[in-house]
Amino acid sequence: MTKYVFVTGGVVSSVGKGISAASIGRILKSRGLSVAIQKLDPYLNVDPGTMSPYQHGEVFVTKDGCETDLDLGHYERFIDIELTKSSNITAGQIYTQVIAKERRGDYLGGTIQTVPHVTNAIKEFMLNAAADQQPDVMLVEVGGTVGDIEGQPFLEAIRQMRTAVGRDNTYYIHVTLLPHIGATGELKTKPTQHSVRELRAIGIQPDAIVCRSDFAIAEDIKDKIALFCDVQRDAVIPMLTVNNIYEVPLVLEESGIGDLIIDGLHLDANPRNLGEWRAMVDRMANTRKVLPIAVVGKYADLPDAYLSVKEALRHAGVFHERDVDITWVQSEDIERDGAAEWLDHAAGIVVPGGFGARGVEGMVDAVAYARDQGIPYLGLCLGMQVMVMESARSLLGLTDANSTEFDPETPNPVIDLMPDQRDVSEMGGTMRLGNYPCQLMPGSRAAKSYGSETITERHRHRFEFNNKYRETLQEAGVLATGLSPGGRLVEIVENVDHPFMVGVQFHPEFRSRPQEPHPLFRDFVEAASVVLRPGAQPELPLAEEAQR
Ligand code: GLN
Repeated sequence: MTKYVFVTGGVVSSVGKGISAASIGRILKSRGLSVAIQKLDPYLNVDPGTMSPYQHGEVFVTKDGCETDLDLGHYERFIDIELTKSSNITAGQIYTQVIAKERRGDYLGGTIQTVPHVTNAIKEFMLNAAADQQPDVMLVEVGGTVGDIEGQPFLEAIRQMRTAVGRDNTYYIHVTLLPHIGATGELKTKPTQHSVRELRAIGIQPDAIVCRSDFAIAEDIKDKIALFCDVQRDAVIPMLTVNNIYEVPLVLEESGIGDLIIDGLHLDANPRNLGEWRAMVDRMANTRKVLPIAVVGKYADLPDAYLSVKEALRHAGVFHERDVDITWVQSEDIERDGAAEWLDHAAGIVVPGGFGARGVEGMVDAVAYARDQGIPYLGLCLGMQVMVMESARSLLGLTDANSTEFDPETPNPVIDLMPDQRDVSEMGGTMRLGNYPCQLMPGSRAAKSYGSETITERHRHRFEFNNKYRETLQEAGVLATGLSPGGRLVEIVENVDHPFMVGVQFHPEFRSRPQEPHPLFRDFVEAASVVLRPGAQPELPLAEEAQR
């Protein structure tokens, strides 16, 4: 029988609800319980795939090709699981389903209402996933903040879950913020009280309250919250702001949340067991050698747009005992000032995924700079495509080489629309999405990194390498070292005359874990750690350094 833990948020958004849910997942998994997790997003978009990164940050792609909320990235990294479409639903999807049923006549002439039709659809989404996956615990995070109008059907649905599956099988956690006033750091509980009152008006009495705070929470503050919000004293859980998100599972477990949930749900679980996680966090804290990496993109002012790339670089850094210090470089700044101005400090350069023509030429300049200077380069999706454009321009002399995404009339379309995309007119959910297998060329850098010749990676693109240019680029030293089975689609390119210049059509960043960096990021960071910048002090290769 699956038990449910519901996580809601109050007071403000961005309070750490997603990280809290992910951390609780890690805690329960470390106690030997099987965990599944879902995010319910109350906005009306069907998925975040068509939303601007400024609205939403990164779009996280699951292995089955769902474009989802970036919190799913936290869930995957913290819990070390691979999620699917059954882990994220939006109001847009729920309403689409309900209205389609109504059009089919499934409701037999009934009046369709938020309660029970919409709330039933939300409950079914949770119950079906639990029935399929049969986890010990299903964690459900409700997006947004209590009081949001569009969140109401979702809160009503999780309220009904207590009756549907039983009091002993449901546990409600409310995450709030304790703001402080003045230099004394005096913490205020009133917003938390109001937010819990709002929740109780809906019929949800939280079992525990996680209080995010920048200052230590004194005992009398905890007493006050327990009294006014009617929770047990030990169920007021402080969550102090930490430097490193991966500390949160440690902080929360320390505060007793694991025991509370396990007792509250009468679960049979192992004792606390975050030793390896703690060791990883300690390694992060003690890593002093800074490795400057430049990430060149169109949303450099919005690092959340590249959240998984940032995390994957950190994971690789910890593995090599390097504190990866990312400079977010706006590609349009490179167009204006030249690459050297923005990249001369970088030991490695990454161009992540992206869409649209803005700033693309700056990314091409970044590739040229990496190639000329021998700086390790990792291109992700669009980052591979600009690497191909730059190679064709510089190495083949095709100065007008481009992607038809940016110049539909280019005489040299080295990147072109995929054939099965030609008739696509709807924008939502129509890209080449999710897992596809890829065959690696034996002896290539990619094959060495992966330690295997068949791999599977997640995709999200419409354009591809144009095979007309494969041979000439190959002769110029840019090899297609990863191909779709059958060999038609180029998935990886490598410049063999460069210490590390790899572009991949997929998104390896989604599969990186703090305790197991992705092999391409791992080897990119290694290359960046040992390759010499002009004028830099020689460093030992990492392996030798480790032996000293
Ligand atoms: N815009 C490019 C394409 O659609 C790259 C996509 C991406 O980087 N995710 O193919």
